[in-house]
Amino acid sequence: MIIFYQIRHHHHKTLACPGVTCPLCRQPGGVSLAIYQRYVWFLGPVFPGAKYGLAGCDHCGQGIPNVKWPAALVQTYKTEKAGLKAPARLWRGALVFPLLIGALIIGTTVLHFRSTSRQRQQEASIKEYVAHPQPGDVYQVLLPGKDGQLYHTYARYARISGDTFFVNLLNKVNPPEQKWEGLDTDSPDAFGATEIPLSRKSFQDEQYMVQINNLRNTMTLWGMKRDGALISRY
Ligand SMILES: [Zn+2]
Repeated sequence: MIIFYQIRHHHHKTLACPGVTCPLCRQPGGVSLAIYQRYVWFLGPVFPGAKYGLAGCDHCGQGIPNVKWPAALVQTYKTEKAGLKAPARLWRGALVFPLLIGALIIGTTVLHFRSTSRQRQQEASIKEYVAHPQPGDVYQVLLPGKDGQLYHTYARYARISGDTFFVNLLNKVNPPEQKWEGLDTDSPDAFGATEIPLSRKSFQDEQYMVQINNLRNTMTLWGMKRDGALISRY
């Protein structure tokens, strides 16, 4: 992560130094000294940095470079600087960032628990619906193709007979990258008439649709639709 921060400047004070003679124009009485402090700014002040002074002369209008400061000016600067404290607001970030990071961690944890509990709820609903199927129940399934890929399609609950659970398969399958997008389960001829027999026990217990007459062909239940609402296991 790249963080863009800025160095900003806090103005502490500007004071006149009437006793100091300007080293540039040699006139007394026009020198003033401003004291600033750098601080790191990122969405607000984060923490303060070093103080520094800028001196200027009203007579000649020039800035006086630090190396040319007369001893009296240096002494004034040192004394004044020692008495200045960084305002509390420049420390705001040092206080706010740990709080922000703490809030972020708590927020993420809460979201994680919420999504886990929502997922558990949905899994429980699916288990319950699979154990007590209703006409119109439609299962979102992954169907292994002969090429080894998993195709996406739907199976519709047909009936139960003893230990066998019958479904009709949708006439269309989607390649892996399309998932279940655009597959129509509502039109009257959407599903084939062939009833696929599944092991009821395996479907109920593990939610694997194991075909009774073809054990190699096992579909995986991903989610299901009941009364138009889609519930997903994942
Ligand atoms: Zn001057």
